[in-house]
Amino acid sequence: MAFKELVFSGVQPTGNLHLGNYLGAVTKFVAMQERYQCIYCVVDLHAITVWQDPAELRRAIREVAAAFIAAGIDPKQHIVFNQSQVSEHAELAWVFNCVARLGWLNRMTQFKEKAGKDRENVSVGLYAYPNLMAADILVYRATHVPVGDDQKQHVELARDIAQKFNNDFAALIAERGFGDAFFPLPEPIIQGPATRVMSLRDGTKKMSKSDASDNSRINLADDADTIAQKIRKAKTDPEPLPSEVKGLETRPEADNLVGIYAALADKTPADVLREFGGAQFSTFKNSLTDILVAKLAPIGGEMKRLTADPTYIDSILIDGADRARVIALQTMNAVKDIVGFVRK
Ligand code: ATP
Ligand code: MG
Repeated sequence: MAFKELVFSGVQPTGNLHLGNYLGAVTKFVAMQERYQCIYCVVDLHAITVWQDPAELRRAIREVAAAFIAAGIDPKQHIVFNQSQVSEHAELAWVFNCVARLGWLNRMTQFKEKAGKDRENVSVGLYAYPNLMAADILVYRATHVPVGDDQKQHVELARDIAQKFNNDFAALIAERGFGDAFFPLPEPIIQGPATRVMSLRDGTKKMSKSDASDNSRINLADDADTIAQKIRKAKTDPEPLPSEVKGLETRPEADNLVGIYAALADKTPADVLREFGGAQFSTFKNSLTDILVAKLAPIGGEMKRLTADPTYIDSILIDGADRARVIALQTMNAVKDIVGFVRK
C-alpha cells in the first residue's frame, strides 16, 4: 500500500535547546517544509521520563516552540504542538507496549546511557520511551522522521513495531480495507555534516540538554559573550589543525569543531581544512565564534521576543494540537477496531 508522505519529529522540553538540536534536527525540520507536509512536536510526555520541575517544564515547552518558529518553521502551513495535548499519543503507546518485545527494548542504547548504574531507580517511562516515540510517529502514519544520529535506533524500533502490528493483525487490517499494511515503515532522515554534534568538554560524548555542565554546549539562547567564552574554553589538543580530513580521525574534539564550522558555513570539512589547515586553534576558534554568533544571534533574539508573549505561543500550540488531534483520532479509532476493542 502507498502511504501519503508525511514528516513527523519531536524535541524534548528538557532544558535549553542547543547547537546539536539545531544542526542535527531543527535545520532539517525547516528544510523539509518545502517538500513535505510536516508535524513538529514538543514532546513533553517524553520529558517527564526523568524528573522535571513543573514551572521549568512549562517554560521549556514554550521555549522549544519559540525555537521552532524562530528557526523558520511555519506553524500555519504545518503543525506545531505539544504532545500532551493530544492524548492519542499515550493511548497508542499503550497498544505498542503490548506489541514491542522486552528483548527489543533491552537493546536500546539510550536507555543504557541514561539509566547508567542506577537502573533499579529510573522510571518505567524511561524504559518504555521508544514505544511512545513509535506512537508519536505512527499515530500520524508518518513516513519520514528527521532526527540526529542518536535517535536512529529508536526510529528502527518504530519500524519493527509497525511491521509486527501489520503482521499480527494482517487479516483484520485487510478486512477493514487497509490493504496489506496499516502502518508505514517510517524512515529515519539523518543527513548532513552535523548529525552528531559532540560535547565541547568531551569529544566522545554527545552534546545534550541534560548534560550537567552548561559549558558542554552552545545554547540557542546564549549571547555573543557566552558563546565566545564557551568556544574559548572548548577542549582541544595541542596540535595545529590538519590540512586533510584524515588527520581528524584520532582527534575527536578537532573533528567536532571543524564539523560545526562546516555545517554553519554550509561547506564540507575538507573545505574548512583547506582554509584553516596548519592554523592554531586560537585562530580557528575566533572564526568559529564569529560564525556561531552570526548564525545563532538572530534566532536567539527572536526566541526571546516570542517567549515574552506566552499567550501567543500557547495559541499556536493549541491550534496545532487541534489539527493534530483530527489525524490522530482517525488512526486511533482504526487501531481500536483492528485490535478488537468495542467503541461508540
Ligand atoms: P536529552 O539530553 O534530554 O535527551 P537532547 O539534547 O538529546 O536532550 P532531544 O530532545 O532528546 O535532545 O532530541 C531532539 C532532537 O535533536 C533529536 O532528533 C536528536 O537526535 C537531536 N539531537 C540531540 N542531540 C544531538 C546532537 N548532539 N547532535 C545532533 N543531533 C542531536
Ligand atoms: Mg535526547
